[in-house]
Amino acid sequence: MGRLFGTDGVRGIVGDLMTPTFALRMGHAIGAYFGKGSRVLLARDARAGGDALARALASGLMAEGIKVYYAGMIPTPTLQFGVKHLGFDGGIMITASHNPREYNGVKVIKSDGVEIPHEEEPIIEDYYFKNHEVNLDWRSMVYDVQDVTQPVIEAYVNDILNQVDRDLIAKRELKVLVDCANSVGAVTTPLVLRELGVKYISVNCNLDPSFPGRNPEPNEDNLAITLRLVREAGVDLAVAHDGDADRAIIIDESGRLIWGDRSGALLTGFVVDTGRWKGYPLKAYTAVSSSQLVEEYLAKLGVKVVWNPVGSVTIIRNMLSQGGAISGFEDNGGYMHVPHHPVRDGAMTTALALYMLAYTGKRMSELYAQLPQYYAVKTKVEATSEEAECGVEAVKEAFSGYRQITIDGVKVVGDDFWILVRPSGTEPIMRIYTEARDPAKAQQLAEQVKQLFEAKCRRGRA
Ligand code: MG
Repeated sequence: MGRLFGTDGVRGIVGDLMTPTFALRMGHAIGAYFGKGSRVLLARDARAGGDALARALASGLMAEGIKVYYAGMIPTPTLQFGVKHLGFDGGIMITASHNPREYNGVKVIKSDGVEIPHEEEPIIEDYYFKNHEVNLDWRSMVYDVQDVTQPVIEAYVNDILNQVDRDLIAKRELKVLVDCANSVGAVTTPLVLRELGVKYISVNCNLDPSFPGRNPEPNEDNLAITLRLVREAGVDLAVAHDGDADRAIIIDESGRLIWGDRSGALLTGFVVDTGRWKGYPLKAYTAVSSSQLVEEYLAKLGVKVVWNPVGSVTIIRNMLSQGGAISGFEDNGGYMHVPHHPVRDGAMTTALALYMLAYTGKRMSELYAQLPQYYAVKTKVEATSEEAECGVEAVKEAFSGYRQITIDGVKVVGDDFWILVRPSGTEPIMRIYTEARDPAKAQQLAEQVKQLFEAKCRRGRA
């Protein structure tokens, strides 16, 4: 049986895997998974091919007897909130998230508003590869696609506004720069900012499938111009979304990009400090790729950090099955404000960051300075999966005297440093992350792991 799903949904290049023919077949497969008579919410981001893929997918769904509701171009978290709170049986988002411009893809959402667990993906793959088609009677083919764009956006934005202290935020007269990545973040984040009484500068907030501003992943390279604009614009805060706006990278007033594990720790600490959300377990779910400073910082506030394998779907599904949490986050900028909805959410993260600034009366750079300071090195080596596994074992052995977290590769935790070594889920490489209080030590640890790998695990190559 072939596989379609990766870490988060199905992704492919438009015109290659991502064609209307594929989407039609996928519509049949997902329709069979949800079952005849189900009410399914469908939406897309601004990527190329989105309209054609949505229409073909809707046809496949309808041919399986599904009642299709369409919410046009909205962020993934808006669709996810809509599925749960407007009572749909499931949802489908046409997006390739942070992938480069030429990609598109499909995320499948369960009735709880969260991506289906990885264990259920083979059910859809099975229907897809068997070319499933149900025998439908004409009486089942009488439903048209219903447009629900406005009610879905309204329900979502209203809940975000209700999560924060609007008066307090408006009083501070904050200025914000938002980079929408030329995609669906533009539909909701500026709306939220306007409702919060915040002055904002929008960058790349025209919906454009050619992504003229930048590639959708919010990293240092793609955000180079945005970071310069932040420094020149004199704003209190900036945020940059990815293609489907489930991520919001926070940038401080000096133009420094703050990675999601750092901002996640700060936001979690703030949420706990307000005392506003009682009844949620004092736990934060994150991936092993997040810095150990998260644990160091949050332990002092009484929050237990629960480490997970890399991948937001796994993090959320673990969180939900283990009794919930106050937050979840990833180093790539996906923060989950659980009291709103337990998924990564760019607009909610933006509103929460503004609430944090208004509540504390501090600048973003001052809040950042409260965190323990670690210097990071992120590198990789080419490795087959066997070589990468050997690398993980070699690090376990070489650092056997230290605390080790072994749920995804191995993370070695020392007093003033940590090391993570893990095979990539998508490429033939082994990732090496090191952090230390001293930059030279972070570099030296990365070199040490590389040398260990070359000496013990590198097979002969032509
Ligand atoms: Mg995304």
